[in-house]
Amino acid sequence: MTAAATTVALTLGAGVANAAATPGAPGAGDVYFPDYGNGGYDVQHYDVRVRYQPATDQLSGTTTILARSTQDLSRFNLDFALDVSSVQVNNRAATFTREGDHELVVTPARQVPQGANLTVTVKYAGIPSQVEVNGYTGWSRTADGALAVNEPESAWWWFPSNDHPTDKATYDVSVLAPDDVQVISNGTLTSGPNPELKGWNRWYWRSAKPQATYLTYIAIGRYDIETDTAADGSPIINAFSTSLGDFEGAARAGINRTNEIIETEEQWFGTYPFEARGGVAAIPGAPGFALETQTRPVYDGRFWRRGGNTYVVAHENAHQWFGDSVSLTQWRDIWLNEGFASYAEWLWSEHEGEGTPQELFDYTYASYPADDPFWQVLPGDPGADKVFDSAVYDRGALTLQALRVQIGDDAFFELLPTWLQEHQYGNGTTDEFIALAEKISGQQLDDLFTTWLFTPERPDLTTGTTLARRSTADTDTTPTRPKSWNKIQQVHTAHADLKVS
Ligand SMILES: [Zn+2]
Repeated sequence: MTAAATTVALTLGAGVANAAATPGAPGAGDVYFPDYGNGGYDVQHYDVRVRYQPATDQLSGTTTILARSTQDLSRFNLDFALDVSSVQVNNRAATFTREGDHELVVTPARQVPQGANLTVTVKYAGIPSQVEVNGYTGWSRTADGALAVNEPESAWWWFPSNDHPTDKATYDVSVLAPDDVQVISNGTLTSGPNPELKGWNRWYWRSAKPQATYLTYIAIGRYDIETDTAADGSPIINAFSTSLGDFEGAARAGINRTNEIIETEEQWFGTYPFEARGGVAAIPGAPGFALETQTRPVYDGRFWRRGGNTYVVAHENAHQWFGDSVSLTQWRDIWLNEGFASYAEWLWSEHEGEGTPQELFDYTYASYPADDPFWQVLPGDPGADKVFDSAVYDRGALTLQALRVQIGDDAFFELLPTWLQEHQYGNGTTDEFIALAEKISGQQLDDLFTTWLFTPERPDLTTGTTLARRSTADTDTTPTRPKSWNKIQQVHTAHADLKVS
């Protein structure tokens, strides 16, 4: 490969050819999803510019990727599923082929030396709702538009990317859409809606902090958009589908408390990490769950079908710290997202006077009998098909309460903001979290984490290793159901509906 490529490159007068140049890896090294993301380069910025016609679900556009090579590259992959018409690398036409459902293999006209700046421009078009990857589309077409909201994968239905949370970048997203719909994305609205064609408007959104691909979204449809300003001067932008019907009041009552919930969570986690806040209540039935899209979670309108629920708002906004600011290095470590966001619901429950974390620990523990399959799923290694299993959420939160009891409140509430500060805008691993917990507490915690995260059985609360000494769950008395229980269960039931391909 290298010898032939060198000959061609020299023949074309393409400068100094490098016999050491090799293809970038087709995956980012994820043990659960080995072909997600790619190797050989690091993205700094995406400029996504698309046009969308709701009537036909036609999406077309150009994405420009600014990246830096991390090796001598003969070629590299992007993750993308729509039809591509051209690719340019540093202003020269590149050749490209498809491999599998979502690999776009790009061969630049010139080999790329390590450390070089790359500007990759991809032009494309397609009908995303008809493009399946692993038999599935993460693009939700609605009666009035569409939602690109999904986890772990959503980008490849609307922009080419290095689709793994280890390669975070900033974004400009601009969408041209008919003027009877609104377009919402991450961050701040830097311009628009601006008339561009007769009957069409362009919206310009910017996300200025590093952001994972799966946390990047667009919501297109008929929305009421409401804006306000937070105490730090940053915008609060809430959007409510005009199709919420009977759910509208409860949805507004929940999402309108976003800023209060964030300010409460700041007391536990430290300063809110992003430049904007808010929420999107989507049309009931889409996307089928709520997702912690960066700066502005998206909620299926059905979250409010049984009345008011602030727990889902507390959950998704806790993810702004746990998952968005500090992102996964491996999808296997998903409890670092979901266990912590679930624990934030327990903290919010206490704040609301609807049950303490220990009461929720006791009731959760007692609600899963020892022979329940729940205990067979390891929160610290659930398997690729169980990334959103209830054990990741509930046993993840149980783990954190067991840790809090073990190390004490002072150490626990020093650990959380320290973890977030040390890994802010980056990534973290379970091993790193355990090491920090041991450092801050001065305790050896291998037994505790092994018991709670990595052992396929219900931990025995009467032994010293679990140290749930304040627990009543191991007695014959059934714990009282906390007032928050049903609302918290609604959050997790709907969240677990996520399709994982
Ligand atoms: Zn979550």
